Amino acid sequence: MTLLIKNAQLREYKKQLDIFIIDGKYAKIEENINSDADEIIDAQGNLVTPTFVDPHLHIDKAYTALNGRSSEEGTLEESIKIMHDFKKNYTPEGVRARAVRAIRDSVKFGVTKIRANVDIDTICGLTALEGCLLAKEDTKEIADVQLVAFPQEGIFRDSGTEKLMYQAMDMGADVVGGMPAAEWIVEKAKEHVDLVFKIAQKYDADIDMHMDQTKDPYAQALEYTAFRTIELGYQGRVTGGHCTSLAYQNDVHAGKVIELLKLAGFNVCVNPQVLAIMGIDSEPRTRGITRVRELIEAGVNTATSQDTICDGFHIYGTGDPLDYGLLMAYQAQYNSTTEAKIVYDMITHNAAKVMNLKNYGIKADFPADFNIIYADTCSEAFRKRASRLVYKSGKLIARYSNEGELIHI
Ligand SMILES: [Zn+2]
Repeated sequence: MTLLIKNAQLREYKKQLDIFIIDGKYAKIEENINSDADEIIDAQGNLVTPTFVDPHLHIDKAYTALNGRSSEEGTLEESIKIMHDFKKNYTPEGVRARAVRAIRDSVKFGVTKIRANVDIDTICGLTALEGCLLAKEDTKEIADVQLVAFPQEGIFRDSGTEKLMYQAMDMGADVVGGMPAAEWIVEKAKEHVDLVFKIAQKYDADIDMHMDQTKDPYAQALEYTAFRTIELGYQGRVTGGHCTSLAYQNDVHAGKVIELLKLAGFNVCVNPQVLAIMGIDSEPRTRGITRVRELIEAGVNTATSQDTICDGFHIYGTGDPLDYGLLMAYQAQYNSTTEAKIVYDMITHNAAKVMNLKNYGIKADFPADFNIIYADTCSEAFRKRASRLVYKSGKLIARYSNEGELIHI
């Protein structure tokens, strides 16, 4: 089976190129390829980029709030409590159905690689993981999914979770998660981090923790994790989601932590929907966003992701990277065509680095997973939340259209 994409605008090149695909893999990327192919698509000078990567999505929780979510405090702590009520009623089939929906909806927007967090705790036990393992299998033709064993309620604070974490890895979780900020005291948060490394080393797994998702400037789990990453030789395999406290520390301390993150080959994943969930501030409003610009300037690999879709934390969210990417651009105040490219990297290559994907990109012999985006620049892609065609292994698997129609009377 051969496929020829004509007149593709790849981000790295000034000229339009043709892409020749044989049996689901890129064979040639050159100007003016004149070969016969089973199918020929004219990209008409639009962007052709690798499929999007969502490196932080809670598929077990997605759509739990379809019937409503009420909130009095607007804090993260309240959101966690709201989720408890949803979680108590989890069944493997219920989780499976919602997780499949979250994956399929993401694919519709051009995401074919997802790192999904799955709650492991004494409220739902291993039920969420059972459902997500089934969902991963159900969607394996259209998406590459990694599952993170995520102790949302803490490990020591929620007694019994340590054993469940090992069981989760035995059942097939791919990545070890963590939530040190859930522990009561700093010493226990550090023990939490040490235990996460111990489990990861046992299973030779990557680590992806929710790090210091708190406005407490004295939280230290992020710097401790970066330090342990270097000590244990885990560089390039550890990701911190949120890293909120960095924004609340003084510039001198935050600068030192960012330097350490760089040395540790640390990945940071920023989730812009926290604007809605980290508590309502007085002016000037910070809203729980980490220091995106400083991290990027220091060369720390920084990605962005959807995090939550219509659950106990947040009633919105579509799973569209051009949607949450735009929100990210506003938060970081990235408002030039050059800076729009930084945000586009955050939903593609930087996010692929978080997932440690080895064959990601439009290169010969790599799997032909790409989107044709109906825009000619990254800023236009975000501005229009552009229409797109989604290909996985050289096969068209989704079509998203944002086109409206003006009826003039
Ligand atoms: Zn999260």
